[in-house]
Amino acid sequence: MTHDHLSGMGECLTDPGPLSHDDAVHVMAMHHSCPDECWPQRRARETFDAEYTASFFPMDSPSPDDTKLARLLREAIRLTPKSPRVKQPVERG
Ligand SMILES: [Zn+2]
Repeated sequence: MTHDHLSGMGECLTDPGPLSHDDAVHVMAMHHSCPDECWPQRRARETFDAEYTASFFPMDSPSPDDTKLARLLREAIRLTPKSPRVKQPVERG
């Protein structure tokens, strides 16, 4: 048991509140070996979870990747030959 770890224990019992990405990275580096009860570590995990969720399930605004994908899809649709059925003239009776 090191003295450094003991001096950091007070931090572990304090809820740091929501963390920015940079804070979360820093906190995770400091507290990665703490038990699950560690507040800073929990907040850091929340931050990472939120980022992970947001990047895979964009609900509000399209991400740059989505915009790029949409452009690729439109291009692919444009390049896809129309189906023969669509090309046939409408029969008039
Ligand atoms: Zn901790």
